[in-house]
Amino acid sequence: MKSKTDTLMRVVNGKLQIGLGPCRCCLGSGTVAKKTKSRCDRCLGRGEILCNGPRSMSAFMRQCRKCGGSGDVETTHHDKQVKCRRCLGVNSQRRDLGSRQSTVPECIVSRLRHRVYRVQRELKPWEEEALKGFSTTFDAGHSRSYSSTKLLRRHRVSYASAGHISQEDGTLCRHIGIFVLLNKVIVGPVFDPAKLPDFKKAR
Ligand SMILES: [Zn+2]
Ligand SMILES: [Zn+2]
Repeated sequence: MKSKTDTLMRVVNGKLQIGLGPCRCCLGSGTVAKKTKSRCDRCLGRGEILCNGPRSMSAFMRQCRKCGGSGDVETTHHDKQVKCRRCLGVNSQRRDLGSRQSTVPECIVSRLRHRVYRVQRELKPWEEEALKGFSTTFDAGHSRSYSSTKLLRRHRVSYASAGHISQEDGTLCRHIGIFVLLNKVIVGPVFDPAKLPDFKKAR
């Protein structure tokens, strides 16, 4: 989904600059959908539910799935708009500083290069360590037999936070690495290819 925050960032000389945008809560509209909280009707506000095991003696408590254990349920009323609490509906176009948690606009992410690396063996501990910061993991399943083209299509990063694809000083990653391991695919930003373990690059 395209939002008004898409104007927040730009790349200048290979560095990601996080700029200013409209109120990040209401995205500049000044109003947000009304939200109300009510007691969860499944667990009656207790947050957990008594479950019966296979035998009558084995009853146990489990967290209520409807409210996630909080005991109340939040309802968003899309038909009722209320004043944004962050900007109070005043000056909602006010420039709001983005952060490293802000989502990088699609136009920047789509320009990142992706590269497939195939590792058809167990990783050594230090290699595991090198890939540790890579947050996006996918269950490989049969990805190993996929062509690089198919892997690129499947694992292309479609959105990321500024902190994920750039360093503290804004330097963008060189490319996004798609590492096809024995039992999983790890996708992550590669800042210094020379620091990577000696994985075979696949075209
Ligand atoms: Zn509940
Ligand atoms: Zn606002």
